[in-house]
Amino acid sequence: MADLPTLLRNLNTTMRADDNWGTPANYIPELAGINPAQFAITVITADGAVYSAGDCDTRFSVQSITKVFTLAIALGRSGDQLWSRVGREPSGSAFNSIVQLEREQGRPRNPFINAGAIVTTDEVLAGRAPRDALAEIVQFIRTAAGSEDIHINEAVAASETQHGHRNFALAHFLASFDSLKNPPDMTLGTYFHHCALEMTTTQLAQSGRFLMGAANMPKLISTARVRRLNALMLTCGHYDGSGDFAYRVGIPGKSGVGGGILAIVPGKASIAVWSPGLNRYGNSHKGTEALATLARQMNWSIF
Ligand code: GLU
Repeated sequence: MADLPTLLRNLNTTMRADDNWGTPANYIPELAGINPAQFAITVITADGAVYSAGDCDTRFSVQSITKVFTLAIALGRSGDQLWSRVGREPSGSAFNSIVQLEREQGRPRNPFINAGAIVTTDEVLAGRAPRDALAEIVQFIRTAAGSEDIHINEAVAASETQHGHRNFALAHFLASFDSLKNPPDMTLGTYFHHCALEMTTTQLAQSGRFLMGAANMPKLISTARVRRLNALMLTCGHYDGSGDFAYRVGIPGKSGVGGGILAIVPGKASIAVWSPGLNRYGNSHKGTEALATLARQMNWSIF
């Protein structure tokens, strides 16, 4: 096997040598002010070894990456019933697009675009107080990561609530089709809060270990479900950049507008990268570049 510590060290140097950092998400003011010139990567291999480079102790807003965990919880609670409410096809539209939702009568294309994630959160909420649903989500992630030191950043949640006009529009539009079981603002409050969870790349890579499907990794869901989550991450995990990511990187991944990406090499590794500047699809610019390079160097591809 190639020497991972050296590869990661070199990757960190190469990423920092180029000034094109992309632009942090600006529709959540609390994220807009972040210095884009930051980069971190952590790789955990199937033997449990942890390799990191860059700002791997800096916490960042994991945002949409939490959609993977809420989906695992929703499937655990309601099984395949969830699929009557959400599809499993790539959307070919932006993460916050509303047009498709009208054409398809309030059934979002997949659980990773915002509309689909709002429905998934609605399923996790299931008539409980948001506090209780959030406690379950946070606990699931802490258990996956093996760390209790993972928290919600209330300022980020508040910032998104104040400026989340698109998501309010999506939630109320879903409600107009009777696609939500809970009051839209309650579902949305829960959604904004789980998106505002913060982790380091080390914690995020730890939290992704159960998706490796490897023998000594935490087993939080069935093997069949691990495969299905990975399939959805590959086909839908990068919004309308999913095809490009599959082509260039060749492994399942889920991005967030905070600039993080969780990527899984089935049976081999859980990888977290973070760099807050985004590309035109709203995915981390340097994070995507770094994963493409690493996957090539390690000969990591599911194909
Ligand atoms: N909380 C963000 C939103 O709903 C998540 C989007 C993302 O991370 O891609 O807009």
